[in-house]
Amino acid sequence: MWPFRAKTKDVFLTNTLSGKKEHFTPRTPGTVLMYSCGPTVYGPQHIGNMRAAVFSDTIARTLRASGYRVKRVTNITDVGHLVGDGDEGEDKMSVGAAREKVSPLEIADRYTKRYLEDIASLNVDTSDIRFPRATDFIQEQIEMIEMLSRKGLMYETSDGVYFDTEKFPNYGVLGNIREVEMEAGARVAQGEKRSASDFVLWRKAKPNDLQKWDSPWGEGNPGWSIECSAMAQSLLAESIDIHTGGQEHIAVHHNNEIAQSEGASGKPFARYWIHNAFLNINGEKISKSLGNTYTLEDVTARNLHPLSLRYFFMQAHYRTPLSFSWESLTASEEALARLWKQARTIQEEARGAHSASDASRKIAAALRDDIGTPQALAHLWDALGSALSAKEKWGAILAADAVLGLSLSRPPEAAKALTLTELPKEVQELAQEREEARQGKDFGRSDELRVHLSKRGYRVDDTPSGTTYTKIGE
Ligand code: AMP
Ligand code: ZN
Repeated sequence: MWPFRAKTKDVFLTNTLSGKKEHFTPRTPGTVLMYSCGPTVYGPQHIGNMRAAVFSDTIARTLRASGYRVKRVTNITDVGHLVGDGDEGEDKMSVGAAREKVSPLEIADRYTKRYLEDIASLNVDTSDIRFPRATDFIQEQIEMIEMLSRKGLMYETSDGVYFDTEKFPNYGVLGNIREVEMEAGARVAQGEKRSASDFVLWRKAKPNDLQKWDSPWGEGNPGWSIECSAMAQSLLAESIDIHTGGQEHIAVHHNNEIAQSEGASGKPFARYWIHNAFLNINGEKISKSLGNTYTLEDVTARNLHPLSLRYFFMQAHYRTPLSFSWESLTASEEALARLWKQARTIQEEARGAHSASDASRKIAAALRDDIGTPQALAHLWDALGSALSAKEKWGAILAADAVLGLSLSRPPEAAKALTLTELPKEVQELAQEREEARQGKDFGRSDELRVHLSKRGYRVDDTPSGTTYTKIGE
């Protein structure tokens, strides 16, 4: 365990601003204000998005276990930003609304709910997180743009209002974007933009826009970075401690956030910028636009527990790209099942009592050292295979689980395998149909029915002695 002491313990984090690992010190002793870029809710989130959610959860858990109080905000983007990385492409919310023939608001509701369910099944601790929606903060976004206007940091064109990056000398500090761009040959400004790095703060409405609001610059909708600046300021403070997000946000989105927030307030925005590396498939980033995505539903449809995905994430450091495959996820599921089995036995042997040891200290130290989840896992496995007492082993399990969040301290009961006749009636019919499809060697149909059964909450296992059914999540 990490016993709470009045004095907080040292935590080290790699700050993208300096490019170095730094000793973490919040502005207000004992309290951490943390903002994480959240999902655009125009469809189901993929497992790459889940890596980002689990990564920020491990930071918050490490800080909490080290004695800090953590206040978090994760935005829900329900305004239609454009599919492209810059200011081009199609409006994402309209794409989702057209696909499912409902309004953008319904799309947002549907996929916000699904996102919150997904992260809950990955044990993301949401007790200290607020999830504001961009559409509930339109006024705050407009006010921030007005402040930028008063400070002479924006200009208006025929299609919108732009941040004038030439007037903000610090533009591009994150990742030294200015230098990188100079080396690559300066980008050319498009349309009425004065400089290539200028970005849109407010877009004037086009005839077919489904989402639009009144503003001092006419009807329109906000640019894709202003919501983060406005909501961080409204719900946390002008100056916050930690800002997280995926590494693709460093160059544009996060430099834009810094320019807007610091331009408006005149104060430093976030002290520590921490970025997670990608989850890849076959060497490519998992991303909606590349169409190579899997969701948590795909994981459970293959009879894998959602926490096997969390275990899989924990095996890599957050700054290391991680390559996804079903084989490695299956290996994670097996490893996690072994951990749960051992944890159950040790808890019984220790009668729930724990004590500190070198192992629990090493685990906590690895996590405080830039969230070293792979090292913490390795120390945990070593501890379980060592001659430590049951109480010390239980202490090591609790220390690891405070951050790894793998339900080790309350392992799910080993689920009972049921036979066809033990299933509830409505599920039994599906199972019966699947067994018949299998007998008729119609494996396509039988796979389809496996997915249906999994959606009804049952995992199917075809064993040499017959097919069994297990309730998912037990
Ligand atoms: P988006 O809805 O695309 O803005 O993504 C929401 C969050 O997930 C952001 O912080 C992204 O950086 C992150 N993210 C998206 N794709 C991946 C990926 N393949 N691996 C890790 N993080 C990702
Ligand atoms: Zn953001």
